[in-house]
Amino acid sequence: MSGTVTPMMAQFLEIKADHPDALLFYRMGDFYELFFDDAVVAAGALDITLTKRGKHLGEDIAMCGVPHHAAEGYFLTLIRKGHRVAVCEQLESPAEAKKRGYKAVVKRGVTRVVTPGTLTEDSLLDARRHNFLAAYANVRGAGALAWVDISTGAFSVLMCDEAKLGPELARLSPKEVLISEASEGDFTTIIADAGAAVTVLGNAAFDSTNGEKRLNSLYSVKSLEGFGTFERAEVAAMAAVVEYLDITQKGKLPLLRPPMREKREAAMQIDASTRKSLELTHGMNGGRAGSLLSVIDKTQTAGGARLLERRLSSPSRDLSEINARQDAVAFCLEKGDVAALLEDKLREVPDLDRALSRLSLERGGPRDMTAIRSAISQARLIADALPMDMPEALAKAAQDLIGQEPLLELLDDALIAEPPLLSRDGGFIATGYDAELDEFRALRDEGRSVIAALQSRYAEQTEISGLKVKHNNVLGYFVEVTATHSAKMLAAPLSETFIHRQTTANQVRFTTVELSELETRILNAGGRCLEIEKRHYSRLSASIIDQAPNLFVLARALSEFDLNAALARLAREEGWTRPSMTSEREFLITGGRHPVVEAALKPSGTQFVANDCNLSEESIWLLTGPNMAGKSTYLRQNALVAVLAQIGAFVPAKSATIGVVSQIFSRVGASDDLSKGQSTFMVEMVETAAILNQADDRALVILDEIGRGTATYDGLSIAWATLEHLHDVNRCRALFATHYHEMTSLSDKLDTVANATVTVKEWDGDVIFLHEVKRGTADRSYGVQVARLAGLPAKVVARAKVVLEALEKGEREGKQKAVIDDLPLFNATPAPAPQKTAPSEVEARLKDILPDDLSPKEALDLIYELRGLV
Ligand code: ADP
Repeated sequence: MSGTVTPMMAQFLEIKADHPDALLFYRMGDFYELFFDDAVVAAGALDITLTKRGKHLGEDIAMCGVPHHAAEGYFLTLIRKGHRVAVCEQLESPAEAKKRGYKAVVKRGVTRVVTPGTLTEDSLLDARRHNFLAAYANVRGAGALAWVDISTGAFSVLMCDEAKLGPELARLSPKEVLISEASEGDFTTIIADAGAAVTVLGNAAFDSTNGEKRLNSLYSVKSLEGFGTFERAEVAAMAAVVEYLDITQKGKLPLLRPPMREKREAAMQIDASTRKSLELTHGMNGGRAGSLLSVIDKTQTAGGARLLERRLSSPSRDLSEINARQDAVAFCLEKGDVAALLEDKLREVPDLDRALSRLSLERGGPRDMTAIRSAISQARLIADALPMDMPEALAKAAQDLIGQEPLLELLDDALIAEPPLLSRDGGFIATGYDAELDEFRALRDEGRSVIAALQSRYAEQTEISGLKVKHNNVLGYFVEVTATHSAKMLAAPLSETFIHRQTTANQVRFTTVELSELETRILNAGGRCLEIEKRHYSRLSASIIDQAPNLFVLARALSEFDLNAALARLAREEGWTRPSMTSEREFLITGGRHPVVEAALKPSGTQFVANDCNLSEESIWLLTGPNMAGKSTYLRQNALVAVLAQIGAFVPAKSATIGVVSQIFSRVGASDDLSKGQSTFMVEMVETAAILNQADDRALVILDEIGRGTATYDGLSIAWATLEHLHDVNRCRALFATHYHEMTSLSDKLDTVANATVTVKEWDGDVIFLHEVKRGTADRSYGVQVARLAGLPAKVVARAKVVLEALEKGEREGKQKAVIDDLPLFNATPAPAPQKTAPSEVEARLKDILPDDLSPKEALDLIYELRGLV
């Protein structure tokens, strides 16, 4: 009948009403089913069949479903496509529901909301990357950003005004950012540009007063002061994170480590476009491939890899911190045997952070416990093998490796070597750990032999060798003797033990208290085993969680060792050197290389050409040279060397002396940002403006071909003025690549500007790239030769040569001004006004001369003659 709503549908609609913005996965037996619009959206996004199931208010109900065991993969697909998923489980068995009434619907409820920032499943996460959930709060004009990785519990916060939000998001690349309703319009674009999902929460979630209370209770402290002094905006942002976790995890809060207050001054500032152009942690295609991270990551553990990513995202600018980190790497490099041993042990270290967080969210299993066990035991082995005299950073980490022996012992005793993934089916508690459990297991597994043992005991006791213990469905277990023994069994003393149950033609059957108890125990043994294991599981889980703060510290220490051993290996394998860091403004690199380009060239056997760079005195280098000569590579490699030095790594160079860099800016290549509706030129100018407005005298700026996106004179004048500004106002260290050869004259005017060029050789009409950077200027652009190398059709190349010759000739003769305006490859000096007058006497005389026919004496005479005509 139309208009009626089935009880199940009523339940669905009620639950759905609480989660209007998520796709509701409604559990029905072994499937999750989606209805109505959710079904239409999910079927489309997952490419699964859309069907119908019954009617609602006279309309067909759209439906689709996925098997529950495969659901994770579907969650991930939906999340990647920007959806949220609410997982609605059955909270009781159908049998339990029936007890409440014939038609009762199984109780259901949403147990979690899966969102991009709140994933914990290993299968859905990249083990070597963080998965951050962030919140941005704005309290009376002051902004703060808080972020958490719920799969590791790391929680941080930072004061961050609106202008810095973009760069910070670029650094962290969170998967999801929370903002309040009140600030919805203001930050949505910035967040979306950073590639994160925007989630809007009610303003109450960002209330700093309630937030403070909530954080206090979360950490069981009276005040947050023990963790640092937090501004109201910071508290608001942290509170929003906690509130959201509460909503999505349905009250099961993950283990959050105490919040770390980050200070901006401590880190090298790198804005979003610089990060992108330097490809620090993400390559151009957005993945790891092609990034600096991908070529320098030699870590053994997921935790180590995440630490490396974190360091690379925020290189330090604290000289003593940088030196301490380099000391640690140097130590691992010198003590090769220690490093080898470290790596050996680290290989066995599982992902402690994530195991811990799964346990805390009750999404873990026995295997997470054994992961923790082996992490602790490897940590202990490492600690035992380490020498005494280590640099400070390692000595401190070494102390954090120990102290978990009681937990290790507990887990060692309690758990078998290789337990199942889930606790559900039991079978993970070790034999000998709990006598009662062992007994039940024996009963469950060896019911027959326990009965057989009892049978022989009874046969002995009654002296009836034919006595049997048997089983049938009516009596259960019973003792059976032939009728001949009936009298003996029915008389004292045996009758005290054996209770008569049944007499058949030839047999008499008895039971005993012991036997019926045994029977109950055998029948219940399986269930009891599970119960006992479950109890132990909870207890072990509680013991682990109790130690969580220390375990996080231990995990961090393991990552620290991993990272240092990995950076040492990198330095050894690639022949990198320790840079010498100073607090001055030096920048002297000899034999520098670009690690990513070098790695890319390796398979082809091409040698990377190492180059020097010295910005110590002449702090701005103006680099000219043809396309493909290696200008961009050179620019970036110097920026990368600075980044590597400041994460504490060794660098791809023969030697390097670097005054700590405060900010790096890179504006390389022209890329259209069509999604923003901005032209190449506009993007370029916005980025250049950011550099000129922000770079301080400790900054390192690399600028590649600015002004290229517009007409020659415009471009040249912008590039010119930009360089002057960098020199006069910013006073920073800079590498400036340009096609405008005119600019090379600036080096005469500006005292700290030097010219450099990437050399090429011309051979047989072709250009050969030497990739060598030398002081001086480039003579030509070699554009046509490069075009030929690029495979431009021969006809086009030939034609281009003709046009080029014509243009060059025209230019010499001052006739082609109009044409060269839009050809930035050519010298764009304003041409003198065309001459319309007749050739001068000197010209007329010169025209007649054939230089090759002149003897030196004649040539000298000619010069005297010409001089006389002027
Ligand atoms: P440009 O910016 O001058 O157009 P690129 O820096 O993009 O040139 O370099 C072009 C190509 O030349 C690179 O992809 C790389 O293969 C090669 N290359 C650049 N620098 C070097 C070098 N120092 N040694 C060897 N090959 C290099």
